[in-house]
Amino acid sequence: MLSGISQVKAIVRRAAEEAGFDLSGVAPATDAPELNHFPEWIAAGHAGEMKYMEAKDERGDLKRASLSRVAPWARSVVVCAVNYNTDHPYSTQVNDPSRGWISRYAWSREDYHDAVFRRLRQVEAALHESVPSDAQAPLTTRSYVDTGPIVERVFAKYAGVGWIGKNTCIINQKKGSWLFLGVILTSLELEPDLPAPDRCGTCTRCIEACPTDAILAPYHLDSNKCISYLTIEKRGSIPEDLRTGMGRHIFGCDICQDVCPWNRKAPATTLPEFEPRPGLVNPALTWLAEMSAEEFREAFRGSPLRRTKRTGLRRDAAIAMGNSGHRDFIPLLDKLTADEDETVAESARWAKARLLGT
Ligand code: SF4
Ligand code: SF4
Repeated sequence: MLSGISQVKAIVRRAAEEAGFDLSGVAPATDAPELNHFPEWIAAGHAGEMKYMEAKDERGDLKRASLSRVAPWARSVVVCAVNYNTDHPYSTQVNDPSRGWISRYAWSREDYHDAVFRRLRQVEAALHESVPSDAQAPLTTRSYVDTGPIVERVFAKYAGVGWIGKNTCIINQKKGSWLFLGVILTSLELEPDLPAPDRCGTCTRCIEACPTDAILAPYHLDSNKCISYLTIEKRGSIPEDLRTGMGRHIFGCDICQDVCPWNRKAPATTLPEFEPRPGLVNPALTWLAEMSAEEFREAFRGSPLRRTKRTGLRRDAAIAMGNSGHRDFIPLLDKLTADEDETVAESARWAKARLLGT
């Protein structure tokens, strides 16, 4: 067993590097001031239909608002981040009306939850190896990728991984914001890193570029208006007043990251699992709109795109066709207006009317 706690921290950092993480750091497992706004944000309905965000403990308090209540044993949070950027254009750099846009994070060959969790377990194992647990001082750890009762980006800030930008993403000065985060809660008291300073300054590019005005104020996002939420989480029809702003987005939206100056020189990853699956960069709208159930299963096995289901994908493709200004889509939209899936049929009716200007 190692004597110094600083040596344990060095081992964790090395293990994170060896596992393929680009960044890592340690935050104290205390309730950061950013979490004070979380109950207010939920109460205002800004989480939309994402009910998991509203998970409560047995006292009826929001789990994500207080780590010290849901994991009172935790003393430190190890935050690891991996860059998923690949050498492909940003959504703001391509404009082919016959094609849609799938968010960068969803292109990968392997589901990012699995890719990050696998690496996180490697770091967790190194932690256990360096600090053997015994009856007097048992070592408890828990690893999470998106699934824990924790707002990861807040702890990423306090672990020095990056600051929370006005677009609410974690941004690192050298790597940009194309980062997947994973966290390990531990009962071990590790020395925390310094929080990353906010480098947004007077910039407001993300707020100005957001097509649906979802960034209500700096650092304040209303999910109900965000294209990421609408295309991925929202079930059924999308509110009509937000459809035009969706442009050609099919799954997720990268605009507020594409325009961020800190992503201008964001490096590309060397990890092969984040390379795109065939056809997902700038995908043909007709391919998505006409996709059969079997093709959907095949194309998106183990992909985050399964989350929106075939209905959501075809609904969004129909809306994108309506926004394209491309009248060649009218025959296909005409066919879709009679689709057995009413969400798709209704979206196609709207899209056709928009193209016809009626
Ligand atoms: S992801 Fe798109 S819609 Fe959501 S805040 Fe960013 S720019 Fe706006
Ligand atoms: S675009 Fe500007 S304001 Fe928005 S996150 Fe990036 S640096 Fe911050």
